[in-house]
Amino acid sequence: MDCDQILQTIYLSFDGEMDGNGLDSLEAHLATCSPCARRRQFAGRFLLMFRKRAARMEAPPELRRRILQALPHRQQVHGA
Ligand SMILES: [Zn+2]
Repeated sequence: MDCDQILQTIYLSFDGEMDGNGLDSLEAHLATCSPCARRRQFAGRFLLMFRKRAARMEAPPELRRRILQALPHRQQVHGA
């Protein structure tokens, strides 16, 4: 997998949508690619924070849009 694919995979892994093979490939890549490892760290913290807030209140659409734009590029794999 190249870095672009990894980036998409990172989000899937947080959503629990990956099978074991995918996770193995992801971990193998992250072990050798520090930019992707840092992205996963960032994405993990961000998603955690975002979900905690979202659990308590619905983010205003404008805020939500700005947050999504600030994230590293992500293909719309499941309609965000
Ligand atoms: Zn990479």
